[in-house]
Amino acid sequence: MTTQDYLPLNHGMIPPPGETGAEFWFVVRDQAILISLNSPIPLVPPLCDIATLQPHLQHPRYIGALRGIPCRAAPLSDTVALPEGFGFRDLRTLLGSIDEELFLMAGRAIQIVNWAASHRFCGRCGAPTVEQSDERAMRCPACGHLYYPRLSPAIIVAIVRSGRLLLALNARTKTGMRSVLAGYLEPGESFESCVKREVLEEVRLQVENIRYFGSQPWPFPDALMVAFTADYSAGEIEVDGAEIIEAGWYAPDNLPENLPGRGSVSRKLIEWFVEKFGGDSVSQS
Ligand SMILES: [Zn+2]
Repeated sequence: MTTQDYLPLNHGMIPPPGETGAEFWFVVRDQAILISLNSPIPLVPPLCDIATLQPHLQHPRYIGALRGIPCRAAPLSDTVALPEGFGFRDLRTLLGSIDEELFLMAGRAIQIVNWAASHRFCGRCGAPTVEQSDERAMRCPACGHLYYPRLSPAIIVAIVRSGRLLLALNARTKTGMRSVLAGYLEPGESFESCVKREVLEEVRLQVENIRYFGSQPWPFPDALMVAFTADYSAGEIEVDGAEIIEAGWYAPDNLPENLPGRGSVSRKLIEWFVEKFGGDSVSQS
């Protein structure tokens, strides 16, 4: 669904030869990224705009190029004051308001910075780790164990029954938003078996004709959403009451008002449903 040709080879760790001049700096604090507040759209700054921060940007890492411009990521301690006109914005609040490639690179920056910060010591033997120069990994010199950035695959699925879409209210959703079902993979599970298990666990339904739809990095903090469509095959809705507290079938012209935000793969699944089964209500909110 999204092109990621901004990532060069070699794990995006080594700048291509000849790259000089402007660079984007993805300055990270927890799950937030530093942006310029003086622009109508959120912008990630070049280093010259945040020169006063440079002494505090420890361990900057090259993370790839955006439209040919090299990008570096570095953490910034929360004790350092920010230059005028800059602020941290939680990445989640930027989804849909910045272009997709910038969002993906910001998510990549946050994941790599936070991975490096949380793997400074070996989890097996406790020795300090050493960052590798030829792959994105931390290696323990004492026991040899390698630590790679963690990705947590998850499924998300649009289930259709007679031209109506299953939408559910998750217990953790504070806004009342209805969405399609989603869940993390268990060790040893295929995507297809995860779809079947999650749907059965959460709403007691069985599905068939599971088809790949697309995928989206979801760096909150480290998920990779893999989206599917599926047809209802058996059962009646019975929510689990723990994760899902309400679920129902919705016609394309009668969708709930509160849907997932633009830019999310869940929204794209709902837009796919509306396009395939008629109606235009989703495009108005
Ligand atoms: Zn070790």
